[in-house]
Amino acid sequence: MLMNLKEILQLAEEKKMAIGSFNVYNVESVQAVMAAARNTQSPAIVSFGESYDKHMPLEAMASMFSYYAAHCELPLVLHLDHSKKLETIFRALKAGFTSIMYDGSALPLAENIEQSRYVADIAHGMGASVEGELGYMNPEDGTPAATGEQGSFTSVADARQYSRTSGADALAIAIGNAHGIYKGEPKLDFGQLDSINKAVDIPLVLHGSSGIPDELLRKAIELGIRKININTEVSTTGIKASREFLGANTDANTRFEAMTKAAEKQMTAVVEQYMDLFKRG
Ligand SMILES: [Zn+2]
Repeated sequence: MLMNLKEILQLAEEKKMAIGSFNVYNVESVQAVMAAARNTQSPAIVSFGESYDKHMPLEAMASMFSYYAAHCELPLVLHLDHSKKLETIFRALKAGFTSIMYDGSALPLAENIEQSRYVADIAHGMGASVEGELGYMNPEDGTPAATGEQGSFTSVADARQYSRTSGADALAIAIGNAHGIYKGEPKLDFGQLDSINKAVDIPLVLHGSSGIPDELLRKAIELGIRKININTEVSTTGIKASREFLGANTDANTRFEAMTKAAEKQMTAVVEQYMDLFKRG
C-alpha cells in the first residue's frame, strides 16, 4: 500500500521504531526489499537516488514499483534520494514518487530553507512528502568516508529553525554518520541527537547507516531516529554473492538471471536482518 513519507513515519513514531530505507536501482534490489518486507511483515521505504536516473529512468522505476505496491498490503513509500535538481524532483512527483529528499545541505541555512519550502509546497500539493538535510555527510560519489568532524555536525539551533520554517516532513542529520564504507569504528554523537530531537517537531533520519553496529542503531532509534538509510551493505552483498556464483558456475551455458537471482536472495537476507532490528528498536 503506497503512502507518503509523513504517513509512514507517523506509524514509526506510534510504534517507537524506525523504518528502513533501502536503495533500489534494478528489479533485483526492488524484489529483495519486497521479499524482506513480506517475510518480516515490515513497512518499507524504497529509495531511488537522483544519480541512478543515468542508469535507468526514474519513470521506469516508478512504473515497475507501482506493480509491487499494488500487490502488497504493507505500508510502502517510493522515495527520491538526495535530489538537488528541481527538474528531477518534478519528474519524480509526476511519475508517482510519494516522497522527495531535497538535499540543500551544501547551501547556507536561509537558502536551504527557502528551497526546501518551495519543494515542499509543490510536493504537498501532489500528496507527497519532503525530507530535508542539515549538516555535512560526505557525498555518495566514491570519496572516502569521513568519520565526521564536530564542525560538520547538524547544529541544534539550525535544526530548530529548519523544522519550523522549511515545511519539510522529515530531517536528515549528521551526527558522525557517513556514506559508504567507514574507515574506522563509527561513532555517533547521541548527546547531539537527543538535543536535536528535543528541539524539532519532525521525525529524524539517519543516512549512511551500513556498518554502524546494531547497538548504536538501537540507541539512535531510542533517541528519535525514525528512518534509517541502508545502501552500501545491501549493494556489497549483491556483488559478493555474484562473485561467489561466478566462481561456482563456470559453465558457458550459465544464465545471467541465475546470477542476479542468487544475488537477490542474499540481499533479501541482509534487508530482513535490518528490518527485524529496526522493529525491535
Ligand atoms: Zn544519504
